[in-house]
Amino acid sequence: MAPPTEGRKSKPKGRPKNDTRSLKRKRDVDDLEKLQKAVEELDLKAEIKDFTDLPLSQTTASGLEASHFKTLTDIQSKALPLALKEKDILGAAKTGSGKTLAFLIPVLENLYRQKWTELDGLGALIISPTRELAIQIFEVLRKIGRYHTFSAGLVIGGRSLQEEKERLGRMNILVCTPGRMLQHMDQTAAFEVDHLQMLVLDEADRIMDMGFQASVDAIIEHLPKQRQTMLFSATQTKKVSDLARLSLRDPEYVSVHEAAATATPTTLQQYYVLTPLPDKLDTLYSFIKSNLKSKIIVFMSSGKQVRFVYESFRHLQPGIPLLHLHGRQKQTARLDITSKFSASKNSCIFATDVVARGLDFPAVDWVIQMDCPEDADTYIHRVGRTARYERAGKAVLFLDPSEEEGMLKRLEHKKVPIQRTKPREKKQQSVKNQLQNMCFQDPELKYLGQKAFVSYTRSVFVQKDKEVFKIDEYDLEGYAASMGLPGAPKIKFQKGDSAKTLKNTPRAALSSDEDSDVETGEKKPKKDEVRTKYDRMFERRNQDVLSGHYSKMIAEDDLDKDEDQQADADEDNDFLSVKRVLPVDEDKNSDDDEGVAAAGPAPKVIHGLGKEPLVIDSKRREKMLKSKKKLLKLKEKGTKLVFDEDGIPHQMYELEDEEAFRKQGPAEMQRAKFLEEEAARVREADLDDKQLAKQKKREKREKKKAREAAAKASIDDDEAPELVGLEVGEDPMDLLRSLPLPEDDEVEEKEERPAKRPKKWFEDDSEDEKKKAAKKKRRVIEAEDEPETLEDLEALAAGLLS
Ligand code: ADP
Ligand code: MG
Repeated sequence: MAPPTEGRKSKPKGRPKNDTRSLKRKRDVDDLEKLQKAVEELDLKAEIKDFTDLPLSQTTASGLEASHFKTLTDIQSKALPLALKEKDILGAAKTGSGKTLAFLIPVLENLYRQKWTELDGLGALIISPTRELAIQIFEVLRKIGRYHTFSAGLVIGGRSLQEEKERLGRMNILVCTPGRMLQHMDQTAAFEVDHLQMLVLDEADRIMDMGFQASVDAIIEHLPKQRQTMLFSATQTKKVSDLARLSLRDPEYVSVHEAAATATPTTLQQYYVLTPLPDKLDTLYSFIKSNLKSKIIVFMSSGKQVRFVYESFRHLQPGIPLLHLHGRQKQTARLDITSKFSASKNSCIFATDVVARGLDFPAVDWVIQMDCPEDADTYIHRVGRTARYERAGKAVLFLDPSEEEGMLKRLEHKKVPIQRTKPREKKQQSVKNQLQNMCFQDPELKYLGQKAFVSYTRSVFVQKDKEVFKIDEYDLEGYAASMGLPGAPKIKFQKGDSAKTLKNTPRAALSSDEDSDVETGEKKPKKDEVRTKYDRMFERRNQDVLSGHYSKMIAEDDLDKDEDQQADADEDNDFLSVKRVLPVDEDKNSDDDEGVAAAGPAPKVIHGLGKEPLVIDSKRREKMLKSKKKLLKLKEKGTKLVFDEDGIPHQMYELEDEEAFRKQGPAEMQRAKFLEEEAARVREADLDDKQLAKQKKREKREKKKAREAAAKASIDDDEAPELVGLEVGEDPMDLLRSLPLPEDDEVEEKEERPAKRPKKWFEDDSEDEKKKAAKKKRRVIEAEDEPETLEDLEALAAGLLS
């Protein structure tokens, strides 16, 4: 067997000996040689069951043991021996089958066997399509690499290049997202990648899908040709095989489930229900109501869908904690929500495809796809959030009758076993009337609903697969009604958009384009024309406390025009909570809100014990809310008012006595009449909205100009070009602060990486492990505080790996 460094530029030599000695842990040369020999002699045909059967360093072995990994998964037993022998690998295995360890163990081991030290610079680079996944990979690396001495870091964008630059030079292992990495390679002179030994691309097809292709190509350009490269994905696409051809040398194809009868885990039960668009929300609500003791992920096509369903359902109080996650939330919120969901036993999270890939939530019972996925691969990744690592799981796909035939064909083609099921009629309940009522009483909710409707409709329109998505066959009018909207917003479409183009175009490109033509680089497709009288209606200026929010929403509406399509695109307004002084979720705390700022002081956030914090807005606002004017307004329309917990008046329909009721005709007829009247009332209210639209439009244009000017002025180093799914200018500090820590206080970033670091991370380990570690004379890391900054985390990683 060839020696490990054959053909590769080995680590740099000729450094002053003192330096090296002071930083290098003294290793037992004999042991290393033995290990090297064992790897070379490892029989690829031998059946390897346990990690202890692999020729691994004691440090990695201890890390695995401490993390309770014992037996290998299929992909691990196939890929690990090859990867340890430093082969290039193209790995494909179902979701949840343990691909992460299949590349992390070799990363640690192959560097270890080469006696890599901090002075040797970057040894391994791991590229992930999303920040969340990068963080998750980093966490696993931290876990299993805890006894190693390598330094490891996350490069996921958002902070000042300069700060990162200084740190980068010291890192041995980096987990990154492509955009930011490339930027460093281009701009950071001192950042040496010349000695890189290993490159890993996790979720390779997703990386290519997200429009990172050019970045990845450019990154690879920078890297030494002689290296080990591993590509991993659950689904293989042409782009991945193209990439493999370009970047892999003599690759080993490790595809454990190729011959499998199904593309999805066998422990996964998959169903679909036929539910016409107008019944979708009812079906979803009924489903949730009958699975209150479960952990559920519900996938939707856009952030706006997610927000509407979240905001409306939580007011219906189904009796299970609801969460929501989409790409436009602040990173802090996103991570907070993902960790909340991870930790919860039963809860339901509404999400976009931002969580569809790679993320490993423990013990998810159900994956619901309320909106049909764009293709079978997306389906596979979504359902892959459950039934992970031999656990059972169930998935339900909601299909409109028009989607049934086409989608089933696609799934069958990809070997996805799915069967039809019917919701129990007894359990089926309708929320249509409640939604209608809520939308009527709550212009913000209506507004959100309208945006959700538009974004859903557009998402269907721009789908590539016209055999599945036939826009004319959906009952859109019925859908709008089911959301409680007074009629479907009319949307004019123009040809030329494609879902993926829009979805994957960098946001910078999207929002920088004034007249909303999407800049794709190849051609310039015309954007959907969605500005209609109904849109203007959305821009209604509310007469009460919400005007500030409206200004904001309308301002954002502009920004959002092109972004509706991004699966993870949505803004983070918290208008509902402001009006109703209801509990909000955490993301709202961190978020500044122009609207609030415009209308009064920032909301006070009160953290209750174990409860979601309450947002108390300015007193003035509260007063206004209960003002006489508002009462009068309501009184004109109703006869009697009831007050809810928050002191908000509602109209009450008094019950008639039964006889009088009967006299007026059959109940069904009365109901129809009532609904008709209500609909008319709603339409009437809409007319008022429209009158305000014109004036609003002008104001909005001015606002937009101002905002653009401001945005131009503020572009700087910090706001490095990030790609879709990654928030421009976000601070990864935020993200790190959101890691499970006792406190959320701001800490000053320290210039230097502190020498002493926390030990607390080890707390979940057995005392034994700690002792063992100490025995091995590993450096003990001590510090007073928990890691709260990127430096902390990096230092910690460095420490953990030491
Ligand atoms: P994939 O990347 O293939 O979707 P992951 O690497 O995220 O899968 O692993 C899925 C889950 O299985 C994780 O929770 C991980 O901790 C667990 N897992 C992976 N390998 C093993 C193993 N050998 N033994 C036990 N659990 C494992
Ligand atoms: Mg994975």
